[in-house]
Parts: sequence; structure tokens; C-alpha cells
Amino acid sequence: MKLLSRSAPAVLCLFLAGTLAAESENNDQTKIQTLARAYASCCTFCEESRAFIWPDGTVIPWDDGEIKTDYEDLLNRASLRDQMAQSYPKGWPFEIPLLNQDPGRVRNEAFFKKIYGASAEEVRSNLVAVPWLFGKSISVTRINGVDQALARIRDKVAGESPEIQGYVKHSLGSFNWRVIAGTERLSMHSFGIAVDFKFPDGAHRYWRWSGEKDGKITYHSALLHNTALAVIVEIFEEEGFIWGGKWYHHDTMHFEYRPELLDCSEGE
Ligand SMILES: [Zn+2]
Repeated sequence: MKLLSRSAPAVLCLFLAGTLAAESENNDQTKIQTLARAYASCCTFCEESRAFIWPDGTVIPWDDGEIKTDYEDLLNRASLRDQMAQSYPKGWPFEIPLLNQDPGRVRNEAFFKKIYGASAEEVRSNLVAVPWLFGKSISVTRINGVDQALARIRDKVAGESPEIQGYVKHSLGSFNWRVIAGTERLSMHSFGIAVDFKFPDGAHRYWRWSGEKDGKITYHSALLHNTALAVIVEIFEEEGFIWGGKWYHHDTMHFEYRPELLDCSEGE
């Protein structure tokens, strides 16, 4: 009895650890499947090697097994597992993002280079000028159906009121092979999968413009009450684009094609 009572906590501990490990594994499997669905036209997941593989033999592991020292290190050396760690809050309303809650901002650069192109020339060769509203066009990649998703967004926005359409009247640019301001990481604009718009005053916010210290960034909660903006964001999300306005390091002009965070491809 004595032995049993002494070992019981250890057994319970082992049991709980086993349960948590199983839960974590299930969670990983769900995320792997979601990522695989979103990029099924480009690569497949290999259970045996726990990696995504391409027809040309390229292999990108799901988990690099490395501990990142801090948030900056995580952003600079993200694995695919890191990339899928934070859940994107699809829909409206949403909770004001907490410190470093930036779902979609942690990215494995090698993955996007392999999917969309490893140089400006390579990405450019797949760009399509999608006719937009107001007689304009926006160039995005044709890879993974990004151009078709943007065309569907255009058709949906075309049925909305002039006030709502006004949010996407002025594109500030899409394809641009460049690094993110203040970093050495490639912007998603480099891959032809991101679009910026000039929003009306008050809704146009970028955390670096606030002059606030990183870690002390104020979120503009008035954005949550902007019903016209909500319509635009939901239309983009339905088609696989996340919105930078839901990040702690917010960038409200920015939309980016990341179907793995919205799971739009389920059932297709
Ligand atoms: Zn942008």
C-alpha cells in the first residue's frame, strides 16, 4: 500500500504527460492535414519522414526540433510547425490581439519560396493582372489559384455598397520583391500573394507608424466597430486571405493569401 500511495502521483503524472503528448500529437496532425490541404497542388506530406515533399525531391520538415530563444528568433527561423502554431481568428468580431499574437506573421520562408518562386523573376513569371474594381487591375500569382481567389473577392465586393467598396478602391501595391521594413525577412509581397489598400482615415494603421515601442503597442479598438471594414475582411477571409489588422503588430492595409490559416480548401 505504501509503495502504491508513493507511486500513485508518479503514475498519474506519467498518465497526464502521456495524455498531453497524445493531445499535442493530435493537434499537430490536424495542423499538418490543414497545411497539406491548402497546398495540395504543390506538395504532399510524407508521414514517414514527417516532412512536406515536392515532385522535384525538395523536402521541408514539419518540425526542426529547435528551441527559438525569443520572438524575433522565432520569426527569423520559423519551422512549418511554428508557422501553424497560432490560430487565426476568422470572422468578426474578434478579440483584441495579445502581445505577439500575430497569426500568419510567423512564416517559414523556404516554404513560400518553394511554392511561389525563389527569385523576383521566378515569381514574376507566374503573375496575372486580375481586373479589379474602378477600372484597375491587381497583379498576383496564378500559383495555388491566388488569382482566381482575388477575382472571386472582386465579384463579391462589386455587389456591396459604395461605402464598402471604398475600402478597396485604392490599391497600394501587390507584388514587390522586398524585405519587411526593419527586418531581413522577405515580405509576402515578394511572392505575389499579398495586397495592400489605402483605407479611409482612422482605419489605416501600421504598428511601426505609431512610434510606440515594440511590446507596448496600442491596438485601436475602434476598428472592431467598423462595420464596413468587417464586410471587406470577411469577404477576403472567405477566399483564403488573412488580414494584418488582426495582428498585435497590426498592419490594417495588408491582406495575404494564407488558406492554411482559414482552411478554405476543406472539402475541395
Ligand atoms: Zn502588405
